[in-house]
Amino acid sequence: MTLIVVNRILPALLGGLFPNHCCLCQWRCPGAQPLCDGCRSELLANSVPCQRCALPLATSSSALCGACLQHPPDFDRVVAPWLYGEYLAYLLRCWKFEGEQRLTPLLAGLWRQQVPTPPEVDAIVPVPLHWLRQWRRGYNQAELLARALQQYWPGLVVDTGLLLRNRPTRAQSGMNALQRSRNLSEAFTARNRCANLRVAVVDDVLTTGATAGEVARTLKNAGASHVEIWCLARTPSPGD
Ligand SMILES: [Zn+2]
Ligand SMILES: [Zn+2]
Repeated sequence: MTLIVVNRILPALLGGLFPNHCCLCQWRCPGAQPLCDGCRSELLANSVPCQRCALPLATSSSALCGACLQHPPDFDRVVAPWLYGEYLAYLLRCWKFEGEQRLTPLLAGLWRQQVPTPPEVDAIVPVPLHWLRQWRRGYNQAELLARALQQYWPGLVVDTGLLLRNRPTRAQSGMNALQRSRNLSEAFTARNRCANLRVAVVDDVLTTGATAGEVARTLKNAGASHVEIWCLARTPSPGD
């Protein structure tokens, strides 16, 4: 009961009284965004990422992680400015699974804070949800993020029609590489040719890179010359 009061009722009450309460600590914050300076300072920047897959590295002595050196992934690089720590994980869960679409400008702002000038691409493509999942959720969070980034940089072209998710895929956690590859095999279709296109695929988190790899393969098979992944956060490798 106490947890319900803390997690549900108190935020709802404070949300009514103070529209700009911090969505993490629930106290009022003065700015326009629902995140106080104290909680914002707890977010962990991905300051030494692998230049290919954005995996956080222990030192900057090597540009690439061991996995990318051995088996370069199908995407050309990942831009993931934050680490998937406890605070950001909570924000992303609320955003994805609890309908907190008001967090979109905050999350886009966090991306922009770390990436003041986005890399040049011809189109940004949100990772599509299967239609049934999107219908249940009511929105695709990757598309919300892509459109919020476009508001910062109106020159960005958001293309929501290029990529189709053919079937629902199961959550990847706990799967080994072979199971992940089977789970995602032919999960996406490129609906148009994208000859020589430089594409940025937008997603919320990069975990194993399996989804990003499958999307990149699909787009490159359709002719894309360069595929990079823009996401908010990167998880460390398992066990780190
Ligand atoms: Zn706070
Ligand atoms: Zn890497």
